[in-house]
Amino acid sequence: MAPHYEVVVVGLGAMGASTLYQLAKRGVQACGIDRFSPPHSQGSSHGATRITRLSVGEGPAYVPLVTASHRIWRELERELDVPLFEACGVLVMTSTDDPGESDFTQSTIAIANNYGIPHEVLDASEIRARFPQFAPIRDDAVGYLEPSGGYVRPEACIDAQLTLAQRLGAEVKLGTDVTGIASENGKVVISTKDGTIVADRAIVSAGMWTADLLGDPFDRLLTVYRQKLYWFKVAEPSKFAATSPSFILIHGPTLEEASYGFPPVPGEGSMKIATHQHSTATLPEELDRQVSPWSATLCTKPMLMATFLGSLLKWWTPRCARTLSRLMAGSSSTSIRRLVVSLL
Ligand SMILES: Cc1cc2nc3c(=O)[nH]c(=O)nc-3n(C[C@H](O)[C@H](O)[C@H](O)COP(=O)(O)OP(=O)(O)OC[C@H]3O[C@@H](n4cnc5c(N)ncnc54)[C@H](O)[C@@H]3O)c2cc1C
Repeated sequence: MAPHYEVVVVGLGAMGASTLYQLAKRGVQACGIDRFSPPHSQGSSHGATRITRLSVGEGPAYVPLVTASHRIWRELERELDVPLFEACGVLVMTSTDDPGESDFTQSTIAIANNYGIPHEVLDASEIRARFPQFAPIRDDAVGYLEPSGGYVRPEACIDAQLTLAQRLGAEVKLGTDVTGIASENGKVVISTKDGTIVADRAIVSAGMWTADLLGDPFDRLLTVYRQKLYWFKVAEPSKFAATSPSFILIHGPTLEEASYGFPPVPGEGSMKIATHQHSTATLPEELDRQVSPWSATLCTKPMLMATFLGSLLKWWTPRCARTLSRLMAGSSSTSIRRLVVSLL
């Protein structure tokens, strides 16, 4: 007879690992399935760091979720004695004469005011005085500083949640490809290469592969975009690490004219900088996972020149130490984002 669970979670990246842990904590008889062995580098949840902030300029619906996550990271750190959440602060800056229809920094400030999130609003001279590495911003730049934000370590967060989920009784099946999900007589039947699993409910958190599994309407709603990450050597890592928050810099009217970065992770000596692109879609099976350091120099040059980053040369060097190419499942409309938020 096929094994039966109350809930099966398909995909154990950032989303699935958190879901499985929370189910296990609530005493739900749950099983998580992944085709790889998370944390791994094939999906969207790797690359050492992720910005986290309470006031999420993308929309106020995220505020309660992030607030809960900050509590959960500290709970997991206490439980397992591992560092997950670095509260180095987050600095969101707009430094452009054209921030677009809605200025991301102003949206962030408005959300923080509405939700009583502790923060400071800084003008250009205050940003320069407190964070000299960002000195070349425009004189009319505006900054939002959230001291309780920072970054999380995604691989360690996944590992911690899968470890605790299993301690609490959840089952985890790794190296198991889910090939189909169907509804039968009020149950969910999950097909894998090793056989069938039955569940009262299934939660699909398959990231960029979600549309492959669920088909219509997700194949129309979800689009996959390749993102590139660059790590640049820092000349004085300790100085940089001691003074730098995670940052988001808006330097133009579109999402693609936003850069973000992190202070050096202890021991690494390099600074991760990235941008987002949502103009060239791709397919998971067609991803080119190589990004040459040479292309990093070429690709980031316009960004570096256009923004303050080029002037970080005092502490930062243009030597690219590492690159990474990853895929992100994005929405081709806002409806999928609303759907995800309402499901959560
Ligand atoms: C470049 C980049 C930067 C980002 N920066 C930030 C940031 O700074 N702050 C922030 O909050 N968020 C950020 N995000 C978003 C965040 O990282 C993602 O939302 C999150 O990692 C997505 O996790 P996931 O679990 O949905 O997907 P994934 O991590 O891709 O997990 C999906 C899992 O499903 C499994 N799977 C898929 N199909 C099957 C199948 N058929 N059978 C079995 N298993 C399957 C895969 O093996 C994988 O483990 C960023 C994302 C990217 C790409």
